Amino acid sequence: MALAGVLGFPVAHSRSPDMHNAAFRALGLDWRYVKLPVPPVLFPETVRALPGSGFRGANVTIPHKHAALALADERTPSAAAIGAANTLSFLEGGGIEAHNTDAPGFIAALGDDVRGLRALVLGAGGAGRAVAWALREAGAAEVMVWNRSPERATALAADLGVAQVLRPAPCDLLVNATSVGLEPRLDEEETLAALQLDELDPPPIVADLVYGHAPSALLGWAARGGSRTVDGLEMLVRQGALSFQRWTGIEPPLDAMRAAAVSS
Ligand code: NAP
Repeated sequence: MALAGVLGFPVAHSRSPDMHNAAFRALGLDWRYVKLPVPPVLFPETVRALPGSGFRGANVTIPHKHAALALADERTPSAAAIGAANTLSFLEGGGIEAHNTDAPGFIAALGDDVRGLRALVLGAGGAGRAVAWALREAGAAEVMVWNRSPERATALAADLGVAQVLRPAPCDLLVNATSVGLEPRLDEEETLAALQLDELDPPPIVADLVYGHAPSALLGWAARGGSRTVDGLEMLVRQGALSFQRWTGIEPPLDAMRAAAVSS
């Protein structure tokens, strides 16, 4: 049996095991995907031990995405440019390769041609970096980044060659890549206040990377204003599908993965 897993701390909430195990079952693959709760201090030695225990790959979530990039022997150009890895592959020759599937996963979930759009990314953590990079690469006319702590947005803007805004500004596509709405759950007024959106109208497209069992307060605001909304669950499915393909070399069963992620 081959193994894969998700490295995080905490990781109990992750839907990735249900999603990937459903994919393995759908294709009759003798693989198993498990949760790997690992504190930061043990991250490098744990990751290096995984191949010897039958692991072929791993997803990486908070707080390890930067450490995963740093310990890898090889990095894809996109992971290196973004500065974070959410996927590791354990190579047959013994090396560890770092990828970032959040960026193409976001573009796939969006399902729209972003060329010509003015995009505003809220958040300058690992997810904000992946989304800003992906939008720039996909040809958005303008990529703006806002972050609660402005110095992180300044660094992101300088690293990726995008613009920083000190307050959210009108745009065509708004992306929440902060963890606002995750925990604690906020109502619409609190969400808009935290993201400094209270004086803006919803733009034509609004994507929220945060996902739960119901549409987020942000997407409720957006839908009421007539925006097209993109749920974080679809990005979870798409980034997971791209990781699956990296590890197995097989076309991922998207419908089985989506159904498992929704019901997880
Ligand atoms: P991270 O590196 O910890 O960054 C967190 C971001 O949220 C920072 O920009 C932080 O701003 C901001 N933030 C936190 N609390 C805030 C508040 N009360 N008000 C305003 N801003 C606040 O996390 P990450 O890896 O980028 O992930 C961000 C979110 O995206 C998480 O909810 C994660 O679950 C989600 N995500 C989803 C997917 C998916 O597949 N759907 C993939 C990746 C990530 P400061 O810099 O000011 O602290």
